[in-house]
Amino acid sequence: LIEIDGIRKSFGDFQVLKGISLSVQKGEAVCIIGPSGSGKSTILRCINGLIPIDEGFIRVGDHRVHEMKNEKQMRPLRHQVAMVFQQYNLFPHRTALENIMMAPVQVLGHDRAEVEARARALLKKVRLSEKAGSYPGQLSGGQQQRVAIARALAMHPEVILFDEVTAALDPETVKEVLLTIRELVEDGLTCILVTHEMKFAREVSHRVCFTDRGLIVESAPPVELFDNPQDPRTREFLGQVL
Ligand code: ATP
Ligand code: MG
Repeated sequence: LIEIDGIRKSFGDFQVLKGISLSVQKGEAVCIIGPSGSGKSTILRCINGLIPIDEGFIRVGDHRVHEMKNEKQMRPLRHQVAMVFQQYNLFPHRTALENIMMAPVQVLGHDRAEVEARARALLKKVRLSEKAGSYPGQLSGGQQQRVAIARALAMHPEVILFDEVTAALDPETVKEVLLTIRELVEDGLTCILVTHEMKFAREVSHRVCFTDRGLIVESAPPVELFDNPQDPRTREFLGQVL
C-alpha cells in the first residue's frame, strides 16, 4: 500500500533524511523507533505530503506523493492518509461529537445524519459514547486523544500515521490510548506509528524500524529486533531505553 524508496530531505545544509526506503502492506502496523532528532517525524510528514522531498519516490495507493506540486493535487491524498499528533488539536468550542463530524460534513460534503451516526459509532469504538456532548476542556488528555483518533477515522483513511500520540499523556491515560490503537490494528488498519512505547511496539506491531541520523538502520519483526538486534547502534539505543 505504501512504497517509499530512497527519500532524501535537507533543511538548509542539514540532511535530515539520507535515503529512507520502506514499504508497508495493507493491514500492516509498522513502528518507527529511534533517538530524538533521527528523522522519525520528518518521515511521516513526507508520507502525507506535508513537506516536499528532495530526492526519491513515495507512493501511497495510487498516489505518487513525490510528484504532487500543490495543495489541490494533495487533497485526495489527505483523505487517504490521516495523521494523529502528540497535540490533539481539537476545536475547543466544539463538542467531541462535533469535532468528529466536522471534516466529513465540511470537506467531504457527506450527509449530516449519516455522518452523525458514524461519529457516534466511532465514539463507541474508542469507548467514549458517554462523552459525545463534552467539550475538549472537559476531557482528560487520553480522552481527547481518543477523540482525535476517532476524528481521523471519520475520514475513512486507508492509512493512519501516529506521531508519538501518547508522549504528552499521564501514564494512566497512555494505556487507554494504546488499547484503542491496538484494537484498530487488530481490525486491520494500516498504520505507521512513531513511538517511545517499546512494550507496545513489541506487542502490537508487525514490524519495527530503528532510525538513526536519517537512516533506517534496521528493520525486523519486533521479536527479532528487540531480542536479537543486529546493528550495534540498535543495541546501544535499546540498551538505553529498555
Ligand atoms: P523526536 O523524537 O525528538 O520527535 P524525530 O526523530 O521525530 O525526533 P524530526 O522531527 O524528524 O526528529 O527532526 C529531525 C531533524 O530535523 C532534527 O534535527 C530537527 O531539528 C530537524 N528539522 C525538522 N524539521 C525541520 C524544519 N522544518 N526546519 C529545520 N530543521 C528541521
Ligand atoms: Mg518527532
